Amino acid sequence: MAPERKFFVGGNWKMNGNKKEIDGIIAFLTAGPLDPNTELVCGVPSCYLEYCRQKLPATIGVAAQNCYKVPKGAFTGEISPAMIKDVGVEWVILGHSERRNVFGESDALIAEKVGHALSEGLKVIPCIGEKLEERESGKTEEVVFSQLKAIIEKIPLDKWENVVIAYEPVWAIGTGKTASPQQAQEVHGKLRQWLSENVNAEVAQKVRIIYGGSVTAENCRELAKEADIDGSLVGGASLKPDFIHIVNASQ
Ligand code: PEP
Repeated sequence: MAPERKFFVGGNWKMNGNKKEIDGIIAFLTAGPLDPNTELVCGVPSCYLEYCRQKLPATIGVAAQNCYKVPKGAFTGEISPAMIKDVGVEWVILGHSERRNVFGESDALIAEKVGHALSEGLKVIPCIGEKLEERESGKTEEVVFSQLKAIIEKIPLDKWENVVIAYEPVWAIGTGKTASPQQAQEVHGKLRQWLSENVNAEVAQKVRIIYGGSVTAENCRELAKEADIDGSLVGGASLKPDFIHIVNASQ
């Protein structure tokens, strides 16, 4: 990780937890100790956004795990960036592979959500990543570049500081099969190069690109050593006290 980019760790709780379990997570996060040089954000289920924002220390960010592309209206079941902001929450994860592959969200929809969330003042973690068959057929770059292309078209130049890109190979999410640090670095380096060519060199240098896919307390430090890996997005392991080691992986 380059020193000008602050190490970033996101916890993605997915559809897990109840108030009692969340109190347990908040307790271990509050006890820490957490490296002050890491920016930590927890992605929580929408019905617990306000609860978590009120109970977590202000130094820990809170993220919604999804939102819709317009401020309000007849969209039953959806929440808007304006609502997320209204309960004091600053971040949203968009385009997670489960949104893409379980709920059928397209590149175009995800891009519209990213653009709208940024315009409403939220910070955004857009997720990209290839499936196993795409990797095996040599299409990793083609897939992640085209996912990223849709997204960058909706990011105004002055909003890039509110974006953290998550590279999450689908075959590594929730499977226990982590990409090796070299495999992850290879894609992160190419993404940064692509951003330099398709946005500009300054954005490419400054934007944080984090890795997600079966990150654990055991493998987080090796990943964090790679030049273009600026942190992690963590699912299962973010629910357990060991998550503190992942938060502190760059120490
Ligand atoms: C995720 O949910 O973004 C994720 C990477 O999950 P896991 O860490 O469980 O693989």
